Amino acid sequence: MADSHRTDHPIRIKTGEIMNIFEQNESGIRSYCRSFPVVFKQAKGAELIARDGTRYIDFLAGAGTLNYGHNNPVLKNALLEYIEADGLTHGLDMHSDAKETFLEVFNRVILEPRDMGDCVLQFTGPTGANAVEAALKLARKVKGRRNIISFTNGFHGCTLGALAATGNQHHRGAAGTALTDVTRMPFDGYMGDKLNTIAYMDKLLSDPSSGIDKPAAVIVETVQGEGGLNVASAEWMRRLERLCRKHDMLLIVDDIQAGCGRTGTFFSFEEMGIKPDMVTLSKSLSGYGLPFAVLVMRKELDQWKPGEHNGTFRGNNHAFVTAATAIETFWNDKQFGDEVKRKGELVRERMQNIVRRHGPDSLKVKGRGLMVGIECPDGDIASSVCRRAFERNLVIETSGAHDQVVKCLCPLTISDEQLRTALDILDGAFAGAMAENLETAAS
Ligand SMILES: *Cc1c(COP(=O)(O)O)cnc(C)c1O
Repeated sequence: MADSHRTDHPIRIKTGEIMNIFEQNESGIRSYCRSFPVVFKQAKGAELIARDGTRYIDFLAGAGTLNYGHNNPVLKNALLEYIEADGLTHGLDMHSDAKETFLEVFNRVILEPRDMGDCVLQFTGPTGANAVEAALKLARKVKGRRNIISFTNGFHGCTLGALAATGNQHHRGAAGTALTDVTRMPFDGYMGDKLNTIAYMDKLLSDPSSGIDKPAAVIVETVQGEGGLNVASAEWMRRLERLCRKHDMLLIVDDIQAGCGRTGTFFSFEEMGIKPDMVTLSKSLSGYGLPFAVLVMRKELDQWKPGEHNGTFRGNNHAFVTAATAIETFWNDKQFGDEVKRKGELVRERMQNIVRRHGPDSLKVKGRGLMVGIECPDGDIASSVCRRAFERNLVIETSGAHDQVVKCLCPLTISDEQLRTALDILDGAFAGAMAENLETAAS
């Protein structure tokens, strides 16, 4: 087809229409698009705009990749200026102006004020899984041990090393090969209030014949994003850190989803009084939705030989520009983080209202900061909520072991008015889904 025809693409899809180019020519691996079967054309701030002009409030935000909203104007202008001036787009891992600025800004605004000035950055391939792979590989290299501890319902990515540390059955089932050298332990609260899962781990790790090979590291999310918004308490994280020190294991915090401000501080663990050995960041790190990932590590762990863990796309120069701009714009003082906490409280209160009104005994608010959601009795109810929300122009998805948690991952920059509108929609969606569930149960 001639390019001139391209702008007014002839294919229109609506819910229920079977044949379209996506179904014809794109792999069945498609997932999110199945829940939101429209073609999006534009996006701005907390809104997605479909080709027919319908505006949707975005409570998915690229699964937490768009913390500063779609096409944030400050980041966009910085990027446009950089491109206009023929700044490097790709430069392998060569020194570039953009990388220098990013390193300087990240060190000055993020690391030093958090007593992490002794850390170095490894630019891995641009996805979260790439950063996790680098962390696990390096931990094994440094400690000379193969085993890694990860947690029930943890999610760390879909490449084989990261997948071995991931709990999700659906993803693990697709591996097609052995997922090895990871021992799963119960996350905070997994066994209920009575069992202290750190004491359980300590017992196993202290017994040379427990059958658990001595681990090189522990990888953990402070709030399990894909796993259903399970929150690790600060106390549990501190005990986990002590456990790591006691058994000579490295502590890796996977902050790919909970980091970059989602919980109200740049790192999700900042107010817990812990010091991880390694931290993975990706998703919202570029701030603009550009692929970008980094492994932050204590300097003495940086035992790589040059190029030992290589990759063509390590350090995305466009992402350096938008990431540095985002950090300068939002993280130079506490104001932005405090706003996130305030909005998190607002959402939590409204969600508690929804629970009171539509299922005080069966629904439950979960999460921390602006990583909050409502746990439903089962995945069918949660999916009915999301479908109803979408009909009312709210894009929202589920997470959790049974896809039972309706999860709010709105841009952190969303306005209070948009939040209220979205939560009204969610309220209506819960009313409908819970009523439908009662009807089904009665019939
Ligand atoms: C999304 C995610 C990953 C994987 O990132 P990809 O870019 O999808 O590879 C890893 N860990 C956590 C906590 C995530 O949320």
